[in-house]
Amino acid sequence: MVQLQRIAIAPEQLQNQHLYLTAEQQHYLGRVLRLKQGDRFIIIEGQGQWWIAELLVNLPASSPQAKLIEIVSIQTELPIEIILIVSLPKADGFEEIVRCCTELGVTQFIPVISKRTVLKPSSQKLERWRRIATESAEQSERQIVPTIFDPVSFKLGVEKNNQSCHQYICEGRGNYQSLTQELISIETGKIPNKIIIATGPEGGWTEAEIQDAIGIGFQPVSLGKRILRAITAPIVAVSQIVGIIEKT
Ligand code: SAM
Repeated sequence: MVQLQRIAIAPEQLQNQHLYLTAEQQHYLGRVLRLKQGDRFIIIEGQGQWWIAELLVNLPASSPQAKLIEIVSIQTELPIEIILIVSLPKADGFEEIVRCCTELGVTQFIPVISKRTVLKPSSQKLERWRRIATESAEQSERQIVPTIFDPVSFKLGVEKNNQSCHQYICEGRGNYQSLTQELISIETGKIPNKIIIATGPEGGWTEAEIQDAIGIGFQPVSLGKRILRAITAPIVAVSQIVGIIEKT
C-alpha cells in the first residue's frame, strides 16, 4: 500500500472527503504517472494523517477529482519537534539543507540573516524551498510537511524562538561540550518535546551573536573536532539529535 504515489495537500484542498487537486498535481498524476479514473494514490493531509484517495474522473477535470477512501496507519514522525535555525549559506546551499533535514525529520526551518550571511534571498527562493520540503516529505514518507518561515534577522530568529526548551547554537571553535554529550546527559524521562538548534554561515557567527544567543538561553555546542561546511553542519547536527532521540 505504501508503494502508492504520495502527494501532500493543503487543508483547503479537502472538503467533505472530496479532494480538489491543483493543476500541477493533476498534471503529475494524470500526465506523468498516467493514473486513470478509479486509480488510487496516497495523500498526506498536513495534520499528520495519510489517506488512500481514488480518482473520480480522468485528469484533467474540473473539481472535485478524487475522494478519500480510508486512513492509512503510519508513524514516521520523531517523538520530538526539531526547529532548525540556519544562517543562510551561499548560492543554493539552503536547498540541500532543506532536502536532507526534511528527510531526517526537522519540523520547522527558520532561515536567518546573520552578520556574515552573504545571500539575499528572493521570494522565488522561498517558494522553491517550500516545494523542495514538500517533495522531500513525500519521498521520505513523512506525515507532515515541515514549515519554512520567511527569512528574518538572526536577532529576531533567536528571540522569536526563545522558548522554554533545549536550545543549542553550534560553534566549531571554543572547546564547547559536544551536542551528543549534551543530549546523552539529559535524564531518561526528561527528554524535551522540542529542541531548537542553530548553525552559522560560511564565515561563522560573530562573537556578539554567540553572546546574544547565550544571553537568551542558547547553549553553545560542538559537532566534533573538524570544521564542517555551512551546509554539512546542520545536517550533522540534526543527524546527531535523531541518532540519540530515536531509539527504534
Ligand atoms: N569560518 C568559521 C571558522 O573558521 O570557525 C567556520 C564556519 S562553519 C563553515 C559554518 C557553521 O557551521 C559554523 O558557524 C557552525 O555553526 C557550524 N560548524 C561547523 N563546524 C562545526 C563544529 N565542529 N562544531 C560546531 N559547529 C560547527
